This record gives sequence, C-alpha cells and structure tokens, in this order.
Amino acid sequence: MTVTYQCANCNYRFEMGSDRRTLVCPYCNKKTLKTLSRGPSFTDKLIEEA
Ligand SMILES: [Zn+2]
Repeated sequence: MTVTYQCANCNYRFEMGSDRRTLVCPYCNKKTLKTLSRGPSFTDKLIEEA
C-alpha cells in the first residue's frame, strides 16, 4: 500500500509505503510530514475537478 505524504515545512510531496518507520522529510530532514491520502491519485483527482 502506498501513502502520500507532504512535508509541512517545505511542501515536498512524495509517496511511500505504509511502513513508516522514519517519518522524516527526505528533502529537508524535518519531522513535519503529514499524510495526504491512501491509494493512488486521490489529490490529483481533486485538482482535475477544480
Ligand atoms: Zn520537508
């Protein structure tokens, strides 16, 4: 299963497996990640509808 995470510090967004041992942003190395969605392309769909 893939989960989309977004960093609240730098807005870097990436997908990662739900095995979240290290919730650290790979871009800025801060622990400010939040979960956006589970499953593929949930946020992309919202953007298309807007
Ligand atoms: Zn970051």
